[in-house]
Formats: sequence, structure tokens, C-alpha cells
Amino acid sequence: MDALVTGLAALEELHSSGTYIKRDLTIVRGEGAFLFDDAGNRYIDCVGGQGSANLGHAHPAILAALHAQMRDLIACPELFHNPTRARFQAALCAAAGMPRVFLCNSGAEANEGALKIARLVTERTGIVAAMRGFHGRTMGALSTTWEKTYRQPFEPLIAGVRHVPYNQVDKLAAAVDETTAAVILEVVQGEGGVHPAQPGYLQAVEAICRERGALLILDEVQTGFGRTGYLFAHEADGVKPDILCLAKSIAGGVPMGAILLGERVGALPPSSHGSTFGGNPLACAAGLAALEVCQHTDLIPRARRLGEAVLERLRAALPEMALAREVRGRGLMIGIELRGKVAPVLKALQARGVLALPAGTAVLRLLPPLVIEEADLWTAVETVIEVLHEQPA
Ligand SMILES: *Cc1c(COP(=O)(O)O)cnc(C)c1O
Repeated sequence: MDALVTGLAALEELHSSGTYIKRDLTIVRGEGAFLFDDAGNRYIDCVGGQGSANLGHAHPAILAALHAQMRDLIACPELFHNPTRARFQAALCAAAGMPRVFLCNSGAEANEGALKIARLVTERTGIVAAMRGFHGRTMGALSTTWEKTYRQPFEPLIAGVRHVPYNQVDKLAAAVDETTAAVILEVVQGEGGVHPAQPGYLQAVEAICRERGALLILDEVQTGFGRTGYLFAHEADGVKPDILCLAKSIAGGVPMGAILLGERVGALPPSSHGSTFGGNPLACAAGLAALEVCQHTDLIPRARRLGEAVLERLRAALPEMALAREVRGRGLMIGIELRGKVAPVLKALQARGVLALPAGTAVLRLLPPLVIEEADLWTAVETVIEVLHEQPA
């Protein structure tokens, strides 16, 4: 079994596209906030499926919903009505306080669609995005992503995109005019290094958008579904987006994306956008179950409370952590800015049974499943503090 699995890792290296640089670790099973490798070793999971596993692994409500739905129907494009889709769309729209939704299959696809929709309904072409922002890898979404190494090989990208510094109202105000279709922002910049919106920033952006007739697109692909201690992170900022993009943890780890449409967008013209897999009943069943878990358990307020405690502990430990510069985050979305590269820190953590993420080259990012047991969360946090004490090999 072990030799076979090791052989399979080599086989995977041989046939996989080559774009992913993998860790020397084969994960075969997950349960709650634990992942297990091919040798049976257990890890505390602070990767959280890169943000797609807020409900952890093998959540019984997700499994039950998938089992029940797959017996009835998996493939059903939006040529037809479907009761599971109807229930999910109604529940998601009610939860977001937005009247309509377009369902798709990933975060990039949600942002891609949002940009198209913004151009369609405003009849303008300009897009304002943020430096350090990440919105995905498809051509349109990539055009709004900041990281040059992601963008440059694929230029020319779509025209009319401007990037402004995040959290600087005056810079944004200077960039939004009567040609601007939309401003697209994250509520906490995730891939860009875990930078939360400062108090008042998004409200000011919202006011500028309203005044100049641009739409406000919030990309909550990573911050949605309880991650920051609110169902949607923007609730804490007291703003209302015109378009809200969701994916990652929307369906308990099953691939899905969604574009919520506010009153100022209204209904889309017939045939103006589409997706074969979008709104498939299997993903909708998982989405409905995931939303019910979020709404009918204390996971979200718990994430807020635990997140505050973790940030407090990490900040108090800053003087002991020679390798750490700053601690940032909201809820259980936590970033530690390092004085050096994050890669050796990730390795040291893995050797001690904790799996974590980078955000760029110098930020350690923790996205534990919200279902993590408190004791395991503290084990992970203390392990991080320990590892950041020392100079890693
Ligand atoms: C992950 C992410 C995306 C891209 O989502 P994919 O499903 O990988 O396409 C877009 N925006 C944000 C904020 C993300 O964190």
C-alpha cells in the first residue's frame, strides 16, 4: 500500500500539468479539522482546503445531502427547473439579502461573470481593482488580480482595468469616474497577504460608487461562509455590495461559485451569460446543507470569538517570535507577516503535525476549518509560536 501510494505520487508528478509545486506529502483522508497522510500520520489542518473547507472534512450534513441528491439527479442544466436549486437559491439570496443569483463553479468564474455583468448593466467598461488583490486566473479575473507574475505572461489582458492602493480612499476616489463600470475588492485581501479592510474604508468606497454610478463588486470567495466570524465579512463593515462573488466554502468543499445580484443590477437579459454545470443539483444540495450548518449552529460566532482570542495570543507572543513582524486577521482568517520566507516555516510546521498556507512569499496564513476543536486550534497556534521562535533550517 505505502509503496503503491509513493509510486502514485511519482506518477502524479509525471502527468500533472506542472503548474503546481507540491509538498512532499500525500493526503488520503480527512475528518473534521484533521488530515491523514498515506502513512497514517495525522495533521491539524490549517490549510482548510485553501479556504474551501470551512466545515471541515467529511461533515455528516454535507455527506448526507450529497448521498440523497446523487440518487435523484446529478446533471440538470438550467434549461429546467429543479427543486433543490430553487431551495438553495432562495436560501442563499435570503442569507445575503440580495434578490437574485447566478450559479457557477469556481471563484474565478464568479468574478469573471461579475465583471461581464457590470459592463452589461452599466454600459461602461472601466474596472477599478486593488493592488495586492486576487480575483482568480481566467482572463478577466486575472486582469483585476494584482500579482505581476500571474499576469505578465498572459498580456495583453482586458483593457480598462486600474489598480489603486487598498485602504486608501483618496486614491480610489481619484480612479472612479463616469467610465467606471465597477470597483472590485476583497473584504480581507487573502492571497495578497491577509490585509483586512480598515474601518470605514468599504463604506467610503460604497459612497463613491453610488455617487458616480459604478457598481461595487465584493469578492468574498475566501472571506465568505463564516471565515471572518460573519456569514459574509462585509456585514461587519456595514456595506451592501451590488454584486457579491462567492465560491470556496459555499458548498462544503464541493466545487461551486455564485454571483449574487443586488437591486441595482436586477434581472439579467435572457441568454446574456451561462454555464453548463452552474446550478447543478449536486452542488446545490451541498450548498443548501452547508448554509444550514452555518445558520443553525454556533460555528460563526464561535469563529469570531476564537479568532479574537487567537489574534490576541499571537500578538502577545510577537516579542518571542523572532521570525514574525506583524499579526493580522479577522475571525479565523489569520496572517503572520514574517521577517523571511514562509516556505521553511511551512516545512517546520508540517514536521510538527500542522499544515498551513502561505500568502505570497513572506506571510504565513492559517485557515483552519471552523469546526476545529478548541484544543486542536491552540495546539496549532502554540506550534506556530514555537516554530517562529527559531531560525528554521
Ligand atoms: C481563491 C480566490 C479566488 C479564485 O477562486 P478559484 O475557485 O480558485 O477560481 C478568487 N478570489 C479570491 C478572493 C480568492 O481567495
